Amino acid sequence: MNDAATLLAPAPVKTEHFDVLIVGAGISGVGGAYHLTKQCPATSFVVLESQAGFGGTWITHRYPGIRSDSDLHTFGYRFKPWLGAPIASAEQILRYMGEVIDENDLARHIRYRHQIAAARWSSMDNLWTIEATQTDTGEALRFTANFLWMCQGYYRHAEGYTPDWDGMAAFKGRIIHPQNWPENLDYKGKTIVVIGSGATAATLVPAIAEDCGHVTMLQRSPTYFRAARNVNELAEMLRELAIDENWIHEITRRKILRDQDVFARRTFDEPEVVKQELIEGVRAYLGPDYDVATHFTPTYRPWRQRLAFVPDGDLFQAIAAGKASVVTDEIERFTETGIALKSGKHLDADIIITATGFHLNVLGDIDFAIDGKPLVFSDTVTYRGMMFTGVPNMAWVFGYFRASWTLRSDLVADFVCRLLNHMKDKRARRVTVALRARDKDMPLLAWIDPENFNPGYITRGVHLLPKRGAKPEWQHTQDYWNEKDQFPAIDLDDEVFVYA
Ligand SMILES: Cc1cc2nc3c(=O)[nH]c(=O)nc-3n(C[C@H](O)[C@H](O)[C@H](O)COP(=O)(O)OP(=O)(O)OC[C@H]3O[C@@H](n4cnc5c(N)ncnc54)[C@H](O)[C@@H]3O)c2cc1C
Repeated sequence: MNDAATLLAPAPVKTEHFDVLIVGAGISGVGGAYHLTKQCPATSFVVLESQAGFGGTWITHRYPGIRSDSDLHTFGYRFKPWLGAPIASAEQILRYMGEVIDENDLARHIRYRHQIAAARWSSMDNLWTIEATQTDTGEALRFTANFLWMCQGYYRHAEGYTPDWDGMAAFKGRIIHPQNWPENLDYKGKTIVVIGSGATAATLVPAIAEDCGHVTMLQRSPTYFRAARNVNELAEMLRELAIDENWIHEITRRKILRDQDVFARRTFDEPEVVKQELIEGVRAYLGPDYDVATHFTPTYRPWRQRLAFVPDGDLFQAIAAGKASVVTDEIERFTETGIALKSGKHLDADIIITATGFHLNVLGDIDFAIDGKPLVFSDTVTYRGMMFTGVPNMAWVFGYFRASWTLRSDLVADFVCRLLNHMKDKRARRVTVALRARDKDMPLLAWIDPENFNPGYITRGVHLLPKRGAKPEWQHTQDYWNEKDQFPAIDLDDEVFVYA
């Protein structure tokens, strides 16, 4: 080798081995780490996280008012009581997760600023090889692992989804996606338009209404909102009775889950009644003269899209106080000074905020290959929304839309730990799920039925997601109330699981 070649040769990449590699230190990854330490104490593992800290969603999003839209009694882990009000800020959620990490000595397992680019499975070695980069030093790192636990969430953290509207380049003000909220954005006294009608818009609008000149929520079509006090009366009552916090956590969770079950069923059984109840809840804040029919009466059945909870009706209070308003119209194009609408009206703006959603992210934008062949995820069939045909030793946490995500991340964690222990008992080094003979003629469908749930990011990206079969075990059923009983009863020696 000549001198030039020596200089150009890449440095050898350091390789570390772990039994399990968890991708992502959000609520799912930190939960996975907790469950591994408790349920598989002899298992070595590492959590790789591309960001500089834990929290996932709750550090990525830094826009004013950022908060949960489901209650923390159920969004919190099964194993750690939530002591605050049901709807929590990102800061409170991060504090709670930090306590979980500290109380269980999990920090030593988590590596931050580790961006994973590729994962390759070798059936000869029964190993995953993971290529990562340490983002602050640029160092290339290699890991091997027997099992991959994908806790990378469902959307791309680097940037949100902004549609391409005519004239955007002409707009003289700032266009901001909430996912990339600039630090120290000065919006005092400014005229702001927030495009969108989901949970993000509903959070942002009241949070900035006080300080900006005026904020308009511009929506193409209305969304259902549920407005109520941000308090759980049962939890408060039990606290007054000095009941142990672990008990309060469990009882409150059961009550919330029972109520949600009843509510979800009612949206199928009596959608019109539920619709009227939700709309009346909004009218109660806005008064009889407000045009609720135009701005807060969706055409779809409640629960077909995630239902945003508005604590203490703050969005509606801001509207009632004249600090915020809603326009239901379509964008014709951006202009130098704002947005021209299809109705012919014009909305002036200094700042336009595009609360228009996410880019669906399938498997963390990681290049996957199985025995040298690129993995086409959409060619696989999902086993209960957590494993995939032809993909060995891998599980993915995809939570619920209609119930808190963490309910499922806890359930999947129990399953993964049980599977790992089972493999150990069997001395198996590989597990792959496969269609049984009786499943072979089963119709294969899109990941989720659009009649059941159809948010924009799923509709835009459904072609990238695995297929769903026509039987519940080959679907992500989105049904916590069945899965909570079914998952612990899964027979790990069923033909579905092929061990080697
Ligand atoms: C604003 C907002 C509010 C929400 N509120 C609720 C709510 O109230 N209730 C609810 O149930 N759900 C809510 N959700 C959905 C929410 O995303 C989930 O509930 C939950 O936080 C997801 O946790 P997670 O750990 O699975 O994924 P995430 O929070 O998405 O975390 C995944 C982590 O993986 C990391 N990662 C991804 N790819 C790679 C890679 N290649 N290499 C290394 N690291 C990687 C990411 O950096 C990230 O930190 C909300 C979502 C948003 C955006």
